[in-house]
Amino acid sequence: MRRRSFLAAMAGIGAANFGRADRPQPAVAARPETASGQVPPRNRRPYADIDWATVKEVHTSSHCHCTNQKMLDSYLKRGFEFLTLSNYYPSAPTMPVKTFRDRHYWVHHDFPVMLNGKRINGPIDWTKVVGQWADQLKPERRAMLPFTEGELRFPNAPDNILEAPNAEHHWFTDRYCSLHLCAPGSAYASGTFDQGGGFKTFKHGYSWGCGEPVKTSIRRMIDALVYPDGGGVTINHPSWSHHPDELIWDLLDFDPRVLGIEVYNMSKTYPWTNQNCEDYWDRTLSTGRQCFGFFVPDWGQVFGTNVLLVPEKTVHACLRAYRLGNWYGAIKGKGILRFTSIRFDGRHLKVTLDKPAHVQLITRRGISQWKNKATDLSFTVSAGEEERYGYLRVRAYALDGSEEVVYTQPMMLAQGPTTVAQSNLDRSQEASAGWSADGSL
Ligand SMILES: [Zn+2]
Repeated sequence: MRRRSFLAAMAGIGAANFGRADRPQPAVAARPETASGQVPPRNRRPYADIDWATVKEVHTSSHCHCTNQKMLDSYLKRGFEFLTLSNYYPSAPTMPVKTFRDRHYWVHHDFPVMLNGKRINGPIDWTKVVGQWADQLKPERRAMLPFTEGELRFPNAPDNILEAPNAEHHWFTDRYCSLHLCAPGSAYASGTFDQGGGFKTFKHGYSWGCGEPVKTSIRRMIDALVYPDGGGVTINHPSWSHHPDELIWDLLDFDPRVLGIEVYNMSKTYPWTNQNCEDYWDRTLSTGRQCFGFFVPDWGQVFGTNVLLVPEKTVHACLRAYRLGNWYGAIKGKGILRFTSIRFDGRHLKVTLDKPAHVQLITRRGISQWKNKATDLSFTVSAGEEERYGYLRVRAYALDGSEEVVYTQPMMLAQGPTTVAQSNLDRSQEASAGWSADGSL
């Protein structure tokens, strides 16, 4: 299905009601967002267009694995109203939840895959492919041929929940394997079902992830956005992945629709890493680059929430909020501590909260102001102080023993490095290398 009919389906019957044939497919080439063909830079002043009297909150996650009903229940119990489930093997949309079956992509692999470094179009008949070397499989694997779909994965899925495509993409040819990207709002799909390689598809040349250079893959994610002006790409768990800052900056500079980094990832609790990546965030912001912060459970289910601020509860409005930076992060969510307004006119910042909290203003200089047991914080940037402070972001700690912390997105003051929206550069280079925007060879 091409983008136009996909969008018509979204507008007409709602994302939750896609029939199997209407499941989102990789879309056609990205359309420019402006008449000039330039993609606007990442929004340097989030919240500017929000009507705080009428705004609605939507709790969600840009990175949450969900492989059974119990996991879905845990997200729903936390009040998630917008699903962009992010699974892999393959890295393909898990939606609609109402009709999605286990092993769906084992028999409905309808997107390209990389074979020995070449991109081949779907559909891929894995029963036939794996059947070629069935004699090399362990008996219990061989017994699974021919492949069939399993049970409904989410037998108690709610009716009409908002959902948009997403997946966790990995295995880029020019980067180490710990680079993982999510793409909320993108129907791009990559890799195969063969996690662990037990069906020997990897051994026989099929990439189990993207299998292409990361920027080629990012371009494909962007080209497959279901709304050109919504959603984008997230750089996941920088500390767990041991990313050098320069990698993050290079990807942010590649395209404004690379939205930012995971500042909090609940899963990454190993001794060598840190759930909280605020250090990466502040170093990046200090360069003048806008970089949105995502707060996600990943596999953890319990903590990490993106609280989207939307004029109406629709898929498009939610994805648009991601693009604009119109959300705040919460470790727990559930309305324990909420921002009730975040206003910045370029000079004056005023933030209000629904309960007294320990409130901190963070800038390029560190913690530049704080208030205890406060429901608001104000700050004025005098003329000429833009470079000194660089950016403003606010962090507030709940005082009720809940250990809730909420985080605004950054509001930028300093000049950033000059960046070019490379997705809008001449595509002839890729075309000559065998790449084309519609996913064909
Ligand atoms: Zn993950």
